[in-house]
Amino acid sequence: MTPTMKPSRYNTFIDLEGNRRLAFNSASGTLAEIYPEDNEIVQRLLLDAAQPKTAKEQEIYNVLIEGGYIVDDAVDELTFLKVKNRTRRYDRSTFMLTVAPTLACNFRCDYCFENQRKEKMSEEMEQALLTFSERHIKKAEMAVLTWFGGEPTLCIPTIERIQTGMALLAQKYGVAFEPSSIITNGYLMDRKMAERLKAAGISEAQVTLDGPREIHNKRRKLQNGGGTYDRILANVRETADILKIVIRVNVDKSNYLGALAILDDLRRDDLLSKVYIYFAQVNDADGVCADIKGQCLTTEEFARNQVKMYRDLIDNGFYQIEYPSIAPGGHCGADTDGSFVVTPTGDIFKCWEEIAADKSLSIGNIMQEEPAPFQKANWNKYMGWDPFEKKSCRECDVLPLCMGGCPKHGMVENSRDIGSCCNWKFNLKDMMVLRYMCDQRKEVKN
Ligand code: SF4
Ligand code: SF4
Repeated sequence: MTPTMKPSRYNTFIDLEGNRRLAFNSASGTLAEIYPEDNEIVQRLLLDAAQPKTAKEQEIYNVLIEGGYIVDDAVDELTFLKVKNRTRRYDRSTFMLTVAPTLACNFRCDYCFENQRKEKMSEEMEQALLTFSERHIKKAEMAVLTWFGGEPTLCIPTIERIQTGMALLAQKYGVAFEPSSIITNGYLMDRKMAERLKAAGISEAQVTLDGPREIHNKRRKLQNGGGTYDRILANVRETADILKIVIRVNVDKSNYLGALAILDDLRRDDLLSKVYIYFAQVNDADGVCADIKGQCLTTEEFARNQVKMYRDLIDNGFYQIEYPSIAPGGHCGADTDGSFVVTPTGDIFKCWEEIAADKSLSIGNIMQEEPAPFQKANWNKYMGWDPFEKKSCRECDVLPLCMGGCPKHGMVENSRDIGSCCNWKFNLKDMMVLRYMCDQRKEVKN
């Protein structure tokens, strides 16, 4: 029996010039161009749920099924997502560990959400972390380790010892240990350090540049107020052939107009094709940085500016653009049982943004057998976070991409009807047009 099919509730159509159209499905992440001559057939098959009659229609029908634009009538896509969300929440097959070996930093950035603290992870704590990891790795199929801080490159020996320890544990239990990544300000990461990181199993470094020299140096300065731009850029030049370098450009009201001038420097140093660039929204995490609150863009403002910035990148011959990825069931690891963020003193948190807070937001400590009641309550808060309880999320076109957004911000905003919307809610169509433009220009270039 031929199954009855229906259009997916996650289709988005975008009209282009010349009667061409794009179709994006946010449940499958597929973007396709509909040629003018096929428009009518697609319209009938998709919107009117007609059955194919000719060979040509059958061919298009198959493509629509493959891209998730048409789904089996029996499938409730919302329930499917809900089950995916629930399953991932308690799935222990991936052990996701983020370690901040120190909360100290050699920078003093305007918008940093971390209170500067001096402690570094002791060797005793490193051992405790490996013992903690072993309990989780033995039940997992995959281990993922990310280095965060403070500034993690202040603690290279710790990174090396823990990377080695984790690799041995993964080997002992036959678990895949994914190449690790490090979030660093990039100031100390010269060629020699990048080689050490690579040898330790780290393949990717995220480095922040907030625009060209003047803008960056005003925002990301050393403790003594000195500039950091030239040295970071020199390090990117020296290390881009060793590690995958992802340049994060933090954007707020004060720099979004000028941030892109950084492209001139990257081009001059022949780095445009060797690094990845993405824009990130600066937000007022927990009010820690109240001094920058007036400068933060709302997500909607950020999303609109993101379009302008990517447009500029494309006009400058840089054909990489952020593409929506299907959320693996949730927005981040904070509302999953197998994900932990550990501080130098062994405190465990669910969310990266909370580690500089005092223990009151922790969910345990790696030295502790059992969490204290308040820690259990913190764990419950994240595990109980549920975008499917929110009407706007249930009805949202980009739910498969967003999954209710950042749980922490969603909880702070505390709305009964909506989570913490992601940028796709505001710029999906524009970004897809840019993506299409990138692909077209790449083709012409090749
Ligand atoms: S809860 Fe939000 S801030 Fe915390 S780790 Fe997840 S996405 Fe980041
Ligand atoms: S938080 Fe906003 S963008 Fe995200 S799923 Fe809910 S309504 Fe959609």
